[in-house]
Amino acid sequence: MVPAVRIKPFYISAIAGFLAVFAGTGALAQPAGGTDDPIARMLQSAPGSAPNLPLAPAKAPPSQGAGLAPGGNVQGSQPIVLSARIGEHADRTRFVIELSDPVNLRAFTLTNPDRVVVDMPEVQWRVGAPPRPSGFGSVKSYRYGVFRKGNSRMVIDLSRPVTVSDPLVIPPSNGFGYRVVIDLFPTQQGKFNVNAGWPADLKARETNAEQLAALAAEPEAPRVTGHKVVVIDPGHGGIDSGTDGVNGLMEKDLVLAEGLKLAAVLKERGYIVHMTRDSDVFIPLPERVAIARKLKADLMISLHADSNPDTQVSGLSIYTLNDGRSDREAAGLARRENQSDIIAGVDLSREDSPVAPILIDLAQRDTINRSSRFAETALGQLHSVTDILARTPHRAASLAVLVAPDVPAVLIELGYLSNESDAAQMNTQAWRQKVADAIARAVDRNFSASAAGTLP
Ligand code: ZN
Repeated sequence: MVPAVRIKPFYISAIAGFLAVFAGTGALAQPAGGTDDPIARMLQSAPGSAPNLPLAPAKAPPSQGAGLAPGGNVQGSQPIVLSARIGEHADRTRFVIELSDPVNLRAFTLTNPDRVVVDMPEVQWRVGAPPRPSGFGSVKSYRYGVFRKGNSRMVIDLSRPVTVSDPLVIPPSNGFGYRVVIDLFPTQQGKFNVNAGWPADLKARETNAEQLAALAAEPEAPRVTGHKVVVIDPGHGGIDSGTDGVNGLMEKDLVLAEGLKLAAVLKERGYIVHMTRDSDVFIPLPERVAIARKLKADLMISLHADSNPDTQVSGLSIYTLNDGRSDREAAGLARRENQSDIIAGVDLSREDSPVAPILIDLAQRDTINRSSRFAETALGQLHSVTDILARTPHRAASLAVLVAPDVPAVLIELGYLSNESDAAQMNTQAWRQKVADAIARAVDRNFSASAAGTLP
């Protein structure tokens, strides 16, 4: 089963942040969290009894077409997110984000699943332990991170439909930096649906995978005949952290570390290697596919780690693309991994959405056969260096990142972050090196076999 993900574009709901003069209340500077702070009071008290925020725009709000004005201070460094708080009340849920510098924000809503997306210029998140929603308010969960170079994003998953207030920016006072206040007011589903949708400028940008590919970096070296091109694709990244390990290891960090190791080993062996990401940044799934196609890659290796409610389940597995018919476990995996773009708030409204049922033609069937052969070769090599999933370690699933019709591609689930011993070994340099070496041996075998003509 492939999840049918459709987000209906409605109309632009672009809200530009603006500065408000925080008229002095006469209060002396207080340390962070001081009770004399009006925001702290508002978070603690019932909204009905909270004082109204003084509101007097000091500057005209930026024009809607201007997009996000660059953040940062006069020194040119990135603004820092210092803290985040959630106030949950019957009539509203309030987010307060404290920043070192003022930034322009834009908030908009998306349906199916219902979310609030808050975009801002790239900021550094230095939030220690982010506050968790209790479930009492409208917020189910939320996440934040770098969405793409130059942009940070916060995505709030909703438990009920809301109306989003204009983000309010309050200048520093009482020992706090700049604070952004966003209120979510409960509303009717119908009203939420009508207001939800992508800002037009983002829609144009997010939806076109080919356009996204143009943003991708050029290959490091011009293609030399005889040198095979391998694209390494560490999954998730930035705002999308993937699975959380029982030991605190995050999937996005594990697969980036493994990807960098594998890239180094393959380069040493003479391959032209390109990574879809080499830092903690989010890359939409169609862009990953587009990168591999644009580089005319001979092989794409996507790296992930899995989780299972049964903490006893352990071992590595490798997935190749199927034609939409998955067993239940494979379908579950596909659902988890294909969530990435939803998690990061990417538009999936295109008709040719990669999570739509995949139609496979004969040419692609040949690509899938090549992918499967590599998967088997890789399992043969990996067998001696790590635990392999006991039952059917090579599986087929409808994975959005594997759909390039002309690039053989596999997705390696390195192990289960929900399993204690898997998570522990995946956290060691020794294991990561052994696995990178084994995959590289498989790449060698794969291409030497092809060159020798033993593979069609
Ligand atoms: Zn993953």
